[in-house]
Amino acid sequence: MNRDKSEALFKKAINLIPAGVNSPVRAFRSVNENPFYVKRAKGAYLYDVDENEYLDYVSSWGAIILGHADEGLVNAIKTAVEDGTSYGACHPGEIDIAELIIEAFPSIELLRLTSSGTEATMSAIRLARGFTKKQGIIKFRGCYHGHVDSLLVKAGSGLATFGTPDSGGVPEDLAKHTYVAEFNHIETVKRIIREHKDIACLIMEPIMGNMGVILPEGDFLKDVQEMCQQSGILLICDEVITGFRVTYGGAQHIYNIDPDITCLGKIIGGGFAIGAFGGKRRIMESVAPLGDTYQAGTLSGNPVAVRAGVYTLRYLRDHKELYDLMGQRIELMRDYILKIAKKYDIPYYINATTGMFTGFFSTGSVNDYEAAAACNRKAYERFFKQMLSEGIFFAPSQFEASIVTLCHKEREISKTVDSYDKVFRAMASQL
Ligand SMILES: *Cc1c(COP(=O)(O)O)cnc(C)c1O
Repeated sequence: MNRDKSEALFKKAINLIPAGVNSPVRAFRSVNENPFYVKRAKGAYLYDVDENEYLDYVSSWGAIILGHADEGLVNAIKTAVEDGTSYGACHPGEIDIAELIIEAFPSIELLRLTSSGTEATMSAIRLARGFTKKQGIIKFRGCYHGHVDSLLVKAGSGLATFGTPDSGGVPEDLAKHTYVAEFNHIETVKRIIREHKDIACLIMEPIMGNMGVILPEGDFLKDVQEMCQQSGILLICDEVITGFRVTYGGAQHIYNIDPDITCLGKIIGGGFAIGAFGGKRRIMESVAPLGDTYQAGTLSGNPVAVRAGVYTLRYLRDHKELYDLMGQRIELMRDYILKIAKKYDIPYYINATTGMFTGFFSTGSVNDYEAAAACNRKAYERFFKQMLSEGIFFAPSQFEASIVTLCHKEREISKTVDSYDKVFRAMASQL
């Protein structure tokens, strides 16, 4: 596969943009590779500047669900652009999208739009602190909620339950208000709540997507919700990936939980910059100008992004049967792939839900951070590179979800399965 033009562009980019990229994972560093440059995208495929075709399992990290450049969506956007790209004033689309989201998520009574998922989680946390007049936050190790200061935190050393900064530029004084618990280990939540009384909220991805896909086990989410309720801690569900992906009403619908605040993003903008946070009326009434928790945005509720979001959500609402189909296709693919892994004796484990899955190079099941972190990253690097030269683009890191769209159909499953056979056969001889 010739990638000369991409290589030339990357050389240029690294002199202009840090590591050549506008978001770190795009640099392909964890797989020791250089990125390709996309010229256009259609359906389930990306085409780079050298005219290589890639079957896309990144799908803009979950923002794309109809497939790239969906014709109906493109037409909706075209008319939106002709009506002006930004007003900084009210427009009817804001009501349309709020109605769609509130109807899909019974836990949301009032909703505000932002321009990114990060802004949504940042605002949700400020709101929780403003509403409860408390400062502490509980998050789960391995969950990602955007690049919010208070959430770029890792577990403290030893027995300390408070967090320390996981990024330069995050003050220790801020990080220490974040307590890090373990997903699928309810006793770690219990312990933090027992030891600290100043906790405003617990934020979680109800299905982990940012350590690879990890599903909640048993009654874990119900138990988390119950503990929060008993202790006056607001439960924030970060459904920026899972919202409208795992089913129309998000993971909270599947697991029957009722969070106080929900964060959304990605799919709800149809590929444009967007985010949203919403929840119980009595809590959301603390947001300015109703209440004293300040939150704002020049491009919040941007009319083009909103028109794209409304088109996408209406399409999904009117074709809910497509979620079952997406789920069945992933299940089918998982069965094929696991058979191939067995055939070549490759330790491989797949976690899957509707709309996303992760294949882990792991000997056992992956149901928490430790198990995911223990995966064979060198094997993933080889897998990534060989898949890429087969024309299949998986995320350039073991710890990401592979994202499918409505355009990942039988042909795409066949192509993927055939490539797995080829790549695993080659890897087996290298092991
Ligand atoms: C992507 C993501 C975010 C951040 O959204 P951005 O639009 O990238 O700021 C937050 N939470 C989760 C679960 C995400 O996957």
